[in-house]
Amino acid sequence: MAEDCIFCQIVDGEIPARVVYEDADVLAFLDANPLAPGHTLVIPKDHHERLGDVPPESGEMMFAALHYLTPIVEDVVDADGSNVAFNNGEAAGQEVPHVHGHIIPRFDDDGGRPVHAVAGERPDLADDELDDIADSIAEGAGEE
Ligand code: AMP
Ligand code: ZN
Repeated sequence: MAEDCIFCQIVDGEIPARVVYEDADVLAFLDANPLAPGHTLVIPKDHHERLGDVPPESGEMMFAALHYLTPIVEDVVDADGSNVAFNNGEAAGQEVPHVHGHIIPRFDDDGGRPVHAVAGERPDLADDELDDIADSIAEGAGEE
């Protein structure tokens, strides 16, 4: 546990939260400042700042919980859809440095935007740059 981390303190029961799901590795609770009814955060219980810091097993459990909970959250608030997303790192808007997935219910005509709206200006990338990026990612992912 990281002493000064709010989400670790929620895991330890030191500060209250509206917990909606818990297993050995994962906790899910309502966001205290919701963007929509049902806005839920899913975290690994162990303290890791970013997705890349999370060990594989813990990551699998977190994504399994997101997968499990998303339709339940949508049903409970009668949502028409949801955005499921991570602010991964300060540059991406992460404020609480304990990795967490957001389940944000969405409603027809709620005035919100798609996840495409979160980034800055679209870059103008040439085909060879896209090829290089794809090749490098594939190489990093262990593809031939
Ligand atoms: P992020 O910008 O992805 O780091 O989002 C952090 C989220 O945590 C925000 O949506 C906050 O409303 C939420 N949050 C901060 N403190 C608490 C808390 N004590 N309980 C529940 N949610 C919280
Ligand atoms: Zn933490």
